[in-house]
Amino acid sequence: MVYLDHAATTPLRPEAREAMLPYLGENFGNPSGHYNAGRVAQEAVDEARETVASCLNARTSEILFTSGGTEAINTAMLGIAYAMRRAGAGSHIVTTAIEHHAGLHAAQFLEEIGFEVTTLSCDGFGRVSATEFERALRPDTVLASVMLANNEVGTVEPVAELAAILKEYAVRQRHRVMLHSDAVQAPGWLPVDVQKLGIDALSLSSHKFGGPKGSGVLFLRRATPFHALLLGGGQEMQKRAGTENVAGIVGTAKALKLTSENISARASRVGGLRERLRQGILEAVPDAETNGCQENCLPNNLNISFEGIEGDDLVARLDARGVAASTGSACSNAMWEPSHVLLAMGVPIRRAAGSIRFSLGEGTTAGDIETVLELLPGEVERARLSAITTG
Ligand code: PLP
Repeated sequence: MVYLDHAATTPLRPEAREAMLPYLGENFGNPSGHYNAGRVAQEAVDEARETVASCLNARTSEILFTSGGTEAINTAMLGIAYAMRRAGAGSHIVTTAIEHHAGLHAAQFLEEIGFEVTTLSCDGFGRVSATEFERALRPDTVLASVMLANNEVGTVEPVAELAAILKEYAVRQRHRVMLHSDAVQAPGWLPVDVQKLGIDALSLSSHKFGGPKGSGVLFLRRATPFHALLLGGGQEMQKRAGTENVAGIVGTAKALKLTSENISARASRVGGLRERLRQGILEAVPDAETNGCQENCLPNNLNISFEGIEGDDLVARLDARGVAASTGSACSNAMWEPSHVLLAMGVPIRRAAGSIRFSLGEGTTAGDIETVLELLPGEVERARLSAITTG
């Protein structure tokens, strides 16, 4: 199999698996247990928290472990918004139209419970405008949530610039707006330094960087107003109740540490492969068009549209030839839905329908790319013929 769907998930790093194994076996203690097995588990969690904090340039007390990116995003958005409203700071939120569904649906829920939400659009490359962001701020704005890198088209958003705008706004207006970022797609491709980004909260998902599924991280800056969503126990500094997923946490830390090393070398090698794939496709396939940015983008993401086909059909054809890619768009109840990201970018619906996403990974080789370049033109041609004959 040629696996080019790393934005969906990545293989577990062997080192992360090795690190996890003792906690799936002999070290089964509950970290809350007041005996040796409990202490062993607690020490593993503490050590993992230190590792993650150091990778993100945060304090250990600012790192919460969650069940994944979705939980981290929901926890940050709902937990901060609720705490800010309760403190009388206001009930207006700013977010973007290109967030992952975890962020979009969390914002919709906040709207249902009485918050007002301003949803910013983006330009044709998927980039959110800092000027429009500033314009959307109001005296009752309590939270802004803008992703660091988009999962469908790979565009990197100007999050540090937005944080600087909020700092300046806080001084000028004497009103602080908290900034959360979904950074799920960033590790391994961009440095994720919470001080340089200047944000209050940031969400990560382990399985996107070679860690286990069902594990994630929420960075929550000290003194950020926050109300826990998961209640019941004192775990995670009273901010996320529930017995810790010790093995998942250990695997997360190991994977994040390895992912945070050699970012520029990885990004430049994989970026070169992505470029070869892009050029090769544009040369070999007529009426193909790339979607998303050419600069300021994740080096592993290539979203491309083929006129006259349906993305799902091409993905199925590639699958039959041993290539895993995806449309990057939602498919619910067997009904195709156009990608909300491509639509926000102004991509016409016909072109959005014919888009597919290749997302490369650390293990992707030049041979993988050549295999795809050999197969793809024929499969696009067959998909086009089939679209014509089936009407
Ligand atoms: N945010 C982004 C940008 C993602 O790509 C994903 C996963 O597809 C998520 C959030 C959700 O993460 P998880 O699968 O850990 O819930």
